[in-house]
Amino acid sequence: MTPLSNAWTLTPDMLSEAVALRHELHRFPEVSGAEHETAKRMAARMRALGAEVIEGLGGMGIAALFGAGPKTLMIRAELDALPILEATGPDYRSEHEGVGHLCGHDGHMATLFAVASALSQRAPECRVALLFQPAEEIGAGARLVLADPAFDAIRPDLAISLHNLPKRPLGAVALKEGPVACASRGLRIRLTGQTSHAARPENGRSPGLTLAQLIPALGALSRDLPTEDPGFRLCTVTHARLGVPSFGISPGEAELQITLRTLFNSEMAALEAEARALIETTAAGFAPEITLHDAFSHSVNAPEATALLERACTGLPRAEGAIPMRPSEDFGLFGTKIPAAMLFLGSGEDQPELHNPDFDFPDGLIPVGAEIFLRAIQAFASDGRQGT
Ligand SMILES: [Zn+2]
Ligand SMILES: [Zn+2]
Repeated sequence: MTPLSNAWTLTPDMLSEAVALRHELHRFPEVSGAEHETAKRMAARMRALGAEVIEGLGGMGIAALFGAGPKTLMIRAELDALPILEATGPDYRSEHEGVGHLCGHDGHMATLFAVASALSQRAPECRVALLFQPAEEIGAGARLVLADPAFDAIRPDLAISLHNLPKRPLGAVALKEGPVACASRGLRIRLTGQTSHAARPENGRSPGLTLAQLIPALGALSRDLPTEDPGFRLCTVTHARLGVPSFGISPGEAELQITLRTLFNSEMAALEAEARALIETTAAGFAPEITLHDAFSHSVNAPEATALLERACTGLPRAEGAIPMRPSEDFGLFGTKIPAAMLFLGSGEDQPELHNPDFDFPDGLIPVGAEIFLRAIQAFASDGRQGT
């Protein structure tokens, strides 16, 4: 890494405390919307570092405010873990059975803790809001935070964020203007017919055949295009159920779940309309009931926010070809309201994929992420001083 031009020094003590915090967070993971203890822990740490703390943002969210100035830079991390059983794991393995920090949000929080430790030593010459967002994994938290009147007190002029990226060299940066993560949303479809004795299926109305028709028909809405093509579409059947597992009953109901994915929100609106029309037509005899779940906006990096991160990443190795990525990021919704950009940082070529049971955020990424954010804060403050 080239010598840093930021105004802060991350001391070995600050970094070892950040690593210890990550391990503590890792031991006590909480799922989306239930991040009670995690939020309390982060609020206490931020207060101890002298931050003004806003609690209960969009539910469990926390914002820690440092410094003063006419403009505010928001940096976001996520509070939530996943309902996945962690594999054998490290000695700080999850103590909450069936829940694990397997997306690295523990590491993202620890990175912001390191940033806060530096800012507590010397206040930034701009306002910095460190946001610990709830419920990222289910695409709910950003919307709840933005809708919370308490968020008006933060009023960020620019927002940045990072996510670790397995299968890329540790610390390699993936960053660019434009789309970086896909829009996605889930549809749950319930079909209702009538049960009957398995000996007399003609006395009931089984949705079995309709379910069997819907699966390939919905899958055919996908387009075999590269992810970066604006027309990219993916429709994945993630779950299907017909009746109950019995030999004596002809089923009277069925359920199907699909996930729709596109590069841009506009294409998502069109794809969802097509999927709904297809379901209504194909399953007309079974009163299809369609509900929407886990709706994620696209994530599109704005020019000014991307330029700020580019300056902060000067001299760092790059990971090419990593973005736009197919998974979705709740941070994208902030970008529909505020100039925002997200960067991805390689978390190691041998690192298991995100959401795998053996994923564990590498501690070595904490100083890299914290240095980038501190550089960004300094660049943002100096732009503010020059009135640009
Ligand atoms: Zn995740
Ligand atoms: Zn994540």
